[in-house]
Parts: sequence; structure tokens; C-alpha cells
Amino acid sequence: MMIETNSSLKAFNTFSIDAKTKTLFHFKNMTQLSELLTVVKAVRSENRPVLILGAGSNILFCEDFSGLVIRVELTGVDIIASENSYLLQVAAGENWHQLVTHCIDNGIDGLENLALIPGVVGAAPIQNIGAYGSEFKDFCESVDYIDLQTGECLNLSAAQCLFAYRDSIFKSKTMENALITKVTLKLPRKWQANSRYALSKSAESGLEITAQTIYDAICQTRNDKLPDPEQYGNAGSFFKNPVVNQKKAAQLLKAYPKMPHYPQADGQVKLAAGWLIEQANLKGKTIGGAAVHQQQALVLINQNNASAADIFQLAEFVRITVKDKFKVSLEPEVRFIGCQGETNLTEVLNDVRA
Ligand SMILES: Cc1cc2nc3c(=O)[nH]c(=O)nc-3n(C[C@H](O)[C@H](O)[C@H](O)COP(=O)(O)OP(=O)(O)OC[C@H]3O[C@@H](n4cnc5c(N)ncnc54)[C@H](O)[C@@H]3O)c2cc1C
Repeated sequence: MMIETNSSLKAFNTFSIDAKTKTLFHFKNMTQLSELLTVVKAVRSENRPVLILGAGSNILFCEDFSGLVIRVELTGVDIIASENSYLLQVAAGENWHQLVTHCIDNGIDGLENLALIPGVVGAAPIQNIGAYGSEFKDFCESVDYIDLQTGECLNLSAAQCLFAYRDSIFKSKTMENALITKVTLKLPRKWQANSRYALSKSAESGLEITAQTIYDAICQTRNDKLPDPEQYGNAGSFFKNPVVNQKKAAQLLKAYPKMPHYPQADGQVKLAAGWLIEQANLKGKTIGGAAVHQQQALVLINQNNASAADIFQLAEFVRITVKDKFKVSLEPEVRFIGCQGETNLTEVLNDVRA
């Protein structure tokens, strides 16, 4: 069915939180557009919110959703080969990892560092997905979207998307009506390995460096180190890696000479959020059914029937503990839907410490 009412979102978020939405629209085909716009208008006229959803791998539903969830399920991949490059036009509901695999299997190289990132293609521009030294922006030509307010179909070039570390124009208030329908990627035929962060395993074993070996190494590393959402619900890295100024980085390095740190082109220094959390002795920390993952401190997991409140409180606990110890603020990478804001941080901490 295209439209459902009072539907569970449990299967549609990787934390497996059993939140319900009052209205759910499965947007499978552009022929449904005028109906979708009518539903959006009706929902807004009742002052109910609208949420665009992909695979729900970067979202925490803290409560039932009183509005309309639009699940983007548009499919289709066109690959246009030219002398020097491949142009990929990919509908927003296609699975990102399947796209990467399809490309590697067919000798279209470049996306291998971004293998096994969960989610759909239409969500990739939102936070400019990245891993192992590559980012979505490195391959993006343009992004097509519908303005849900006006119904217009529009296009932004990669430069207009203002991509940055886990950020893009699509996170800004001005783009809250943008439903991404398609992305266009450009992959040069002349392939260059980006193996700085990816290849220790295959390099050690003396394998020739190809897109396939990088892809295999990354899939293996990710499978070894990240919890499978099917087993323990999670949303990958819960926090962004914080970026601090040089003075702050120098202070921290004096106290913690082994602290991982990555100088940025603009003079700032990126720190590893996972390291900070681990140093704060939070690996394995639990609140209710939620836990900081034992192997990868940056990942919060639904260990044992966690409620969204358990996960939210654990996230706040981690934030406050890291702030207390290092005076560094962690910003969530995960989008909270309906969770309480920062006003009760102290309350949460007192509760947890009591
Ligand atoms: C195990 C695991 C590992 C992960 N590893 C990484 C990683 O290495 N690097 C990384 O960057 N991320 C990583 N993530 C996070 C996640 O995979 C990405 O953020 C992904 O792009 C989210 O895709 P999604 O379809 O699940 O989006 P959702 O969670 O459904 O939505 C995310 C955001 O995008 C918006 N959105 C989704 N689709 C559209 C659309 N068509 N139009 C407009 N807005 C839309 C939503 O409103 C929401 O704000 C990981 C997650 C997990 C669970």
C-alpha cells in the first residue's frame, strides 16, 4: 500500500526502535508526486510535521511521530560511459552499498572506500557520507530534488551543495523542504587508489592494490569492527569527530601525548571522538538496554531491548563525561526525532550518577 496509517517504523530504523508514525507514504515512483504533494499539504494544514526517511540508519526516533513520514523508495540506475569517465544517475531509494558493489563488479572504480555504509543513495549527500579518506563530495556532480512546498523539481551542482565534513546545504533550515530524488556521480576511468587509511591488511599481505582489494579490505575491516545492526541495533558513529583550534589541541597533546589528531587544511585539528570516549572509560557503559560498544566506543548499541530514552540518555552521559574530562564538546552525527533537547542534561547526569 502506498499510504499507511499508524504504522510501526521498527523495520525502518537501524536502532530497531518501535516508534509509530501517524501517516506513512511509500514514495516508489515519480508518478506518485502529485498525490504526495497533496498529502504533504493536508498534513501541514493540520500543523503536523513531515519527515523524509531513507533506511533510517542515521536516525533515533524518541517518540511516536505525529506527522507524515515519506519513505523514499525510488529506484533506477543509469550509467553513461564516455571516453574519460562514467556518469552514474542513481535514484534516491537505491541501496548505497549495492551501488558500490555493482560498480566494483563492473570495473567502475572509485567508490570502494565507501563500501558497506548503510543507507540509501538519496541520504548520502545529506551528511556527505565519508569513510577511509573518501567522501561523497569527491564523486558528486549534482543532486536533483523536489521542493515539497512548491512541487518544483530542482537541481544543485556539487559546488552549490556546500559539502563539508558530515555536512551539506541539505542540513540547513532553507532546505528542509528538499526531497532528494536522484544523485549524479562522476567516476573518472583513470583510477587512483585512495589507500592511505584503507589498505594496511592487503599491503601487509603483499596484494596488488586494486579497487577490488581496497573494497575487500574495507568490507572485512568494517565487518570485524562494527556491530551488525541486525544483531545489535545501531546507527554507526553516534558522534562526529570534534574539530578544535590549535591551542586547544596543543593543551590536550601536552596532557595526552598519544592522542590521535589530524591537522586540517584550515589550521584546525580534528580529534577522534572514539578515542576520547574510550579514554573516558566509557567502553561497555550501559544505561537500560543501551550500551557503548565494547570494540568501537563511537558506536552506541541497542544491546538489550533498549528504549529510545535509554539510547538518548546514554548519548547525553557520554557527551557530558567527555566534556568534563577533556573540555571538548561532542556533537551527535545521528539525527534525533522528538528527543528532549539539552535543557535537562544536568538532570540526566545526576540521575545517572545517583
Ligand atoms: C553500522 C553503520 C555504519 C555507518 N558507517 C558510516 C560511515 O562510515 N560513514 C558515514 O558517513 N555514515 C555512516 N553511517 C551512517 C549512515 O549510514 C549514513 O548517514 C547514511 O547516509 C544514512 O542513510 P539512510 O538512508 O539510512 O538515511 P536516514 O537515516 O533514513 O536519514 C538520514 C537523514 O537524511 C535525510 N534523508 C534521507 N533520505 C532523504 C532524501 N531522499 N531526501 C532528503 N533527505 C533525506 C533524513 O531526513 C535524515 O535527516 C553508518 C551507519 C551504520 C548503522
